[in-house]
Amino acid sequence: HLDRIAEVDDHIHAFLHVDTEGALEAARAVDADVAEGKAPKSALAGVPLALKDVLTTKGIPTTVGSKTLENWIPPYDATVTRKLREAGVVVLGKTNMDEFAMGSSTENSAFGPTHNPWDHARIPGGSGGGSSASIAAFEAAIAIGTDTGGSIRQPGAVTGTVGVKPTYGGVSRYGLVAFSSSLDQAGPCARTVLDAALLHEVIAGYDPMDSTSIDAPVPPVVAAARQGLTGDLKGVRVGVVKEFAGDGYQPGVLRSFEAAVEQLRALGAEVVEVSCPNFTYALPAYYLIAPSECSSNLARFDAMRYGLRVSDDGAHSAEEVMSLTREKGFGPEVKRRIMLGTYALSSGYYDAYYGSAQKVRTLITRDFEAAYEKVDVLVSPTTPTTAFKIGERVDDPMAMYLADLCTIPSNLAGNAAMSVPSGLSHEDGLPVGLQIMAPAMADDRLYRVGAAYE
Ligand code: GLN
Repeated sequence: HLDRIAEVDDHIHAFLHVDTEGALEAARAVDADVAEGKAPKSALAGVPLALKDVLTTKGIPTTVGSKTLENWIPPYDATVTRKLREAGVVVLGKTNMDEFAMGSSTENSAFGPTHNPWDHARIPGGSGGGSSASIAAFEAAIAIGTDTGGSIRQPGAVTGTVGVKPTYGGVSRYGLVAFSSSLDQAGPCARTVLDAALLHEVIAGYDPMDSTSIDAPVPPVVAAARQGLTGDLKGVRVGVVKEFAGDGYQPGVLRSFEAAVEQLRALGAEVVEVSCPNFTYALPAYYLIAPSECSSNLARFDAMRYGLRVSDDGAHSAEEVMSLTREKGFGPEVKRRIMLGTYALSSGYYDAYYGSAQKVRTLITRDFEAAYEKVDVLVSPTTPTTAFKIGERVDDPMAMYLADLCTIPSNLAGNAAMSVPSGLSHEDGLPVGLQIMAPAMADDRLYRVGAAYE
């Protein structure tokens, strides 16, 4: 994999940092266990993985795609990082991402975009474009992403790979540099559903270091994936979300989705149409809640505690250093969100914006609850379109935000969701993703249906 990275990553730019020494050392430790006849540490011992640069890695740079943290070397491992190491997984390096995970194309990275391995002129999705591109380009076998509004599933869909957003609280957020704390969730990226399940099992579980971590057994995701591989979905009720169709959806995406629904039916699933009327308001609610939380979370980048400090250019007071550093350190999308969020949280506007968005969030959760009384999983396209061209949406934030139309509701409700490859669009020959959604702590349902379908 290191050779493959050396061969292709100049063209893909999936990695921000390759830890050659650390990877070889971890691989040798697995070899030594084998030589000594010891049992492997996990099913993934020795498997090379790419880690999104939003999770801290002790002694290895963690930039979050931002100039603000360009030279920051964390003194500790995130819980996800620690669990990977304890399982004998070989961490190859850190992957490119939109700055602070804000974006849908990886073009907001301060270190240049990642290219889609299917067509280098196109985006690999975002914010975790580097993680999904690395596995699509065979630079890594598996990867870790984080999903606040779709950043694991949308890159998965447009690169033809699997991406899972576990139930909120299912995977520890300790050491995950916060964007929107009530939505952020780390999860697996893989080329098959079973690989994703094996990785899910390694990283999931209760962590006292994360106050929102769920203290309950990890859903049986590996067993469910194996069950799904038998190809039998008899007794599984699948709901097609009526609202995720129509204007803005490419015919190639819709045709692939119809074929996917037919296939689920052929595998024995019972398919019904379901209406979730409040999903229409998910995008506007998200773009109030996520920026609000981001404006608060990013206040810690004050030029005093972490990373970049710009003090030349005539800054004379601590306040001037802070404002100059934030002006130089943050990119335009991050600034836009901090300003939107600060406004939405300000007294006088709080009830009208943030308060209303929280009410919408509750309505969306209720739509899910009503739907899951009738069906076991919901399905939709993962994204309205296939991978767009690099540069096509950079000047139009609204067009960029539309990429997450179908993925955001599951984040707002804290539910589990997966994107699984659903063939190529007849229009442009690019990958399309099928989204499967399940209730909180029923992540195993995703794996059963996903493995049967893929
Ligand atoms: N694209 C969405 C955003 O820009 C989601 C990002 C994410 O999931 N981290 O906020």
